[in-house]
Amino acid sequence: MISEVTSMKDVKKQAPLKAAPAPKVKNGIKVLVIEDEKALVDALVYNLDREGYEVTVAHEGQDGLRKAQAIPDIILLDIMLPGINGIEILRELRGNEKTKSIPVIVVSAKSEETDQVVGFSMGADDYVTKPFSVKILLQRIKALQRRSEVSADESTVELIEHKQVKVDMVRHKAFVLDQELDLTPTEFRLLECLLRSPGRAFSRQHLMDSAIGEGAIVLERTIDVHIKTLRKKLGAMDMIETVRGLGYRFKE
Ligand code: CA
Repeated sequence: MISEVTSMKDVKKQAPLKAAPAPKVKNGIKVLVIEDEKALVDALVYNLDREGYEVTVAHEGQDGLRKAQAIPDIILLDIMLPGINGIEILRELRGNEKTKSIPVIVVSAKSEETDQVVGFSMGADDYVTKPFSVKILLQRIKALQRRSEVSADESTVELIEHKQVKVDMVRHKAFVLDQELDLTPTEFRLLECLLRSPGRAFSRQHLMDSAIGEGAIVLERTIDVHIKTLRKKLGAMDMIETVRGLGYRFKE
C-alpha cells in the first residue's frame, strides 16, 4: 500500500490559523484542485487565493471531471482519489475535445518513476511528488502557465532561441553561438521540440512523435541514438539533460 501522508507540520506552516491577509488583486487565472486530503486542500486554497488565483475544489473524481467542464486554466490532480482515480481522470480529460488541452499538474504521493511515466504518457504536463512545499508548487504552476502561453502562439514563432542555441523555422537552420549546425531532419525536429520548452521533461514517446512522426514503428531507444548525435553537434552548448526513466529535457 502506498500511503499518502502529507506532513501536518508542513501544512500548518503553510496555512496559519490567524486571519488571512487581504488577497491580492485576482489574476484571472482559474485553478481546479482535485484532491481529497482536507488539510492539503486548505493549504492549497489559502496559498493560491493569496497569490490571486481563482480556486475551485473537487474532493473526488466525478466532481472533478464535472468541474473541469468549466475549462479552468490549470488543473492540480491527485492520483489516489475516492471513486475515479487521477489517471482515469487524466484519460477522460485528454480524450475529450473540450478539456484535452487544459494543462494538468499531477500531484501525487506515488513517487515511483513508473507512475511518473504513466502520468506523462497519459498527458500530464508536470508532476509534483508529495510532500511538497507550496512554494515549489506555485513555481511549477507559473512555469506551466508560461509554457502554455508560449505554445499558444507557437505557430507564429519563426525563431526559437534559448541561451546561445537558435532554430530558424523559416530558413530551416539551427545555430550555436551563431555557427550553423549540420543537422539531420530528425535532429533538427528534436532540437526544435526541446528548445520550444526549456526545462520541460519530454518522454521518449513524445520526442519520437514530434521528431519522427506519429505512428512511426521504431524502438524508443532510437531516440537515444539521435539525441547522442545531436548532443555531439551542439558541442560545448549541449544543454540536453537525461531525465531518468522518462526521456530528455533542454536545460532551462
Ligand atoms: Ca488522495
